Amino acid sequence: MNETTRQQRRKLVRERLKTGERALARGLSANPVREDVIAVAQVLRAKLAETDNPRRATEAAALAQRLAETSLKAYPAKTPIACTLGCSYCCYGFVSVVAPEAFRLADAVRAGASAPVDAATARAAAALTRGVAPDDRVGRKLPCPLLNDGACSVYTVRPLVCRQTTSLSLPGCVEEFEGIDRDGRIPISSVHMAHASNANVVLLGAMLAAGLPTEAYELGAALEVTLADPDCERRWLAGENVFAAAGRPMPRQPAADQVAAAIANALAG
Ligand code: SF4
Repeated sequence: MNETTRQQRRKLVRERLKTGERALARGLSANPVREDVIAVAQVLRAKLAETDNPRRATEAAALAQRLAETSLKAYPAKTPIACTLGCSYCCYGFVSVVAPEAFRLADAVRAGASAPVDAATARAAAALTRGVAPDDRVGRKLPCPLLNDGACSVYTVRPLVCRQTTSLSLPGCVEEFEGIDRDGRIPISSVHMAHASNANVVLLGAMLAAGLPTEAYELGAALEVTLADPDCERRWLAGENVFAAAGRPMPRQPAADQVAAAIANALAG
């Protein structure tokens, strides 16, 4: 790369960062333009490049969650959702998280933000779901280790998957909770799904661009790992396979992977 090209590249990154910060503050539509998505990913990529910041993965997850929140606020769903405070049927299902989200959850638990769920309680509850396959969770009524008295104890920092699954049918959720076969056809809010999915591919794209692994793990298993070692994030950032004890990663999601790879390519270009 010659000096002129380098300068052009630096200018492009600066402009993207400004656009990305604005987009983070005001939110993206459910069908955002490509350049805005790449601009927000640039902000997360810059966060992951803060090599002297040992919490940069946690903070990148926080940015992705903020994107989902500001986007939903700016471009809300028009169809009323069935979810209400105290309704937690979906919190007995299988949830997957990527490493930065797992670090963010552990951070919240350690800081006492999930009270009365503390690290020991969460780890004990997580042990009950260890090794249980996604389909085997249906009807087993095994709660998420972060569920407390019918409410999410880490609601403000809940993973993106939890933000995606917003139901339009309470009976559908009850039937799945009871193990009645509905072939996974609970109607969900496409707007909630879109905002959280967009935030997810932005996070994955930034992670790919940073050369970080993008495997997802079952929430409880990932939480057990991250709560067991306060140094976990630093070790993961250094390239250690800290999630080996969390079992096999979740099957890849080809559609999300494809978009994330396109974002990562754009960030590299
Ligand atoms: S993290 Fe919170 S919202 Fe997600 S499954 Fe667990 S209790 Fe429910």
